[in-house]
Amino acid sequence: MSTNTVENKDLENAKRYVQTVYDAVVARNPHEREFQDAVKEIFDSLAPVLAANPHYIEQRILERMAEPERMITFRVPWVDDRNQIQVNRGFRVQFNSALGPYKGGLRFHPSVNASIIKFLGFEQIFKNALTGQPIGGGKGGSDFDPKGKSDLEIMRFTQSFITELYRHIGPDIDVPAGDIGVGGREIGYMFGQYKRIRGNEAGVFTGKGVGYGGSLTRTEATGYGCVYFVQEMLGARGDSFMDKTVVVSGSGNVSIYAMQKAAELGATIVACSDSDGYIYDPDGININTVRRLKEVERRRISEYVAEHPRATYHPGSQNIWNIKCDIALPCATQNELDEKSAHILVENGVKAIGEGANMPSTLQAIDVFHSSGVLFGPAKAANAGGVAVSALEMSQNSMRLSWTFEEVDAKLKTIMNNIYRQSVDASEAYGHAGNLLMGANIAGFKKVANAMIAQGVV
Ligand code: GLU
Repeated sequence: MSTNTVENKDLENAKRYVQTVYDAVVARNPHEREFQDAVKEIFDSLAPVLAANPHYIEQRILERMAEPERMITFRVPWVDDRNQIQVNRGFRVQFNSALGPYKGGLRFHPSVNASIIKFLGFEQIFKNALTGQPIGGGKGGSDFDPKGKSDLEIMRFTQSFITELYRHIGPDIDVPAGDIGVGGREIGYMFGQYKRIRGNEAGVFTGKGVGYGGSLTRTEATGYGCVYFVQEMLGARGDSFMDKTVVVSGSGNVSIYAMQKAAELGATIVACSDSDGYIYDPDGININTVRRLKEVERRRISEYVAEHPRATYHPGSQNIWNIKCDIALPCATQNELDEKSAHILVENGVKAIGEGANMPSTLQAIDVFHSSGVLFGPAKAANAGGVAVSALEMSQNSMRLSWTFEEVDAKLKTIMNNIYRQSVDASEAYGHAGNLLMGANIAGFKKVANAMIAQGVV
């Protein structure tokens, strides 16, 4: 009998306990749907672990984990180009520091609210644990919409944002990075403002430009890492990216570098999207065009077809999942792939899903993939490459040196391979072989829970 085999009665008790704690989380965080879903997704994996390790229940680990150590909300006033005063709301959740300084990105998007920030921060705890790096979980952002704003407006907003946030962060305290709406330009402005107030503490942000403390490979890391993870899943079935048709949603830096790496491994990328619609290119998406349009010129993906006449543009980004493909990489945003889309993908013969975005598949869509035997690489494992290289950026800043692109890429590959292995091992140890969502949740959870217990009731 394996050490993890538990009595049915213990499993039922653990399930009841998890439900009780989940109900309390819902009651305490009413209307926070995204946060509730993120908690449910983790908690649903944990009954077998709790049944085999009752001390996690005695130590009230679930109750402690679901409550952020700290949640900061603040006013961000700024002046737009028409000399009008604007007011946005800023957030930083410092969710869990059991493994190290809080670490996680900042998202600037009109949909940002406390629920979205808490869902992302909660996910980040377990994702960061899986990387094996000494980083806790945090997240932040604002309901500021960078779309259509001038460079000067972006600068004025970010300077105001940091004039409040600076007092809560620091290289050994909390290290923000990018996320949706926050890339190299925004990190640069925020780092500049932080430096004016606090002095040069290079390690306070990650995702900096390579000329002033940033790490090579950071921009590519989330997309590359996602493809490395899917490569591991395919490899276990004796398969690969070679000659596969791939659909990648989004056209931000996760999507762009997932497309680039998948193409490098022999796949044809036939579609990508932005929030307005998607493009389909039977010749294979020209990644350089997408990169220039989105990263340099900051234009819409619809403009791709003007340069590639065989490509077509389709309004409505969620319909991208109607395209027949072997591999789907949702790299845009949360809940972009629902149950209906999951059924369509399965009917069209999809073999593998790799989540580059945070929580892109709904809980119901994930159930469809699992019950159809489709390989499913869950976000907190498959997209952990970005934050993993962020942690490598912190190391390089502390050591005052910089590794080459190849060195960082090799470390990223090793980390993604370890995350895959840990997820497989945990899924097998707790009787759910093949379910990498459960495996990743369990492996991440145990690391954080054990550190919390070792550090006492804090
Ligand atoms: N926002 C990214 C994520 O969701 C990166 C975070 C970081 O590098 O700190 O993991």
